[in-house]
Amino acid sequence: MAKPGRRATAVLATILALATAGNASAQSEPTIVLHVANYAGLPPAVLEQAGARVAGVYNAIGVRTVWVRGTETIRRFESGALHLSILLLPHDKLRSDGARRDLLGQSHLSSGRAYIFCDRIAAMHGLPTALSNPLSNPLADVIAHEVGHLVLQTGSHSPSGIMRARMLSPTLHLLAFNHAEARSIRATLMAAQ
Ligand SMILES: [Zn+2]
Repeated sequence: MAKPGRRATAVLATILALATAGNASAQSEPTIVLHVANYAGLPPAVLEQAGARVAGVYNAIGVRTVWVRGTETIRRFESGALHLSILLLPHDKLRSDGARRDLLGQSHLSSGRAYIFCDRIAAMHGLPTALSNPLSNPLADVIAHEVGHLVLQTGSHSPSGIMRARMLSPTLHLLAFNHAEARSIRATLMAAQ
């Protein structure tokens, strides 16, 4: 992110922190609540493993993720946590559009919804077949990436790590946010507390 953006976030965080000082309900740990709507009907085991990997990506930058299965919601801060929606979509409605076929996920920043194209992820080459659920890792990486966009409220990408524009191939090792991204994500979440 550009420097002016970071400064703006820092100022906002300071103002809100002062305004909510003494709020006994404020949490100390930055938290994202993910409302996961499983329209794709993915098996519970896949969701469980994907949720654990998303949690790992965010744990690495000191952010807690809470995974709530059910219905989608609107982006909001509530009780010190940022609430977002993950829509796991079954059918590829953009299949005929060649230009968009490689899009694995898409974020709608203002509503806080991430659209995850599960059948495209399942069709990726190089899924780790050694795992009991090969879909879990790339699914988690796409979700973690789109959640990054939703928290940061930007569509910008990094040359490497979880926020790179393209998933080169599914990977076993945990992809990471860079320091600037991590700082911005934590600042955004702490501003709500
Ligand atoms: Zn992206």
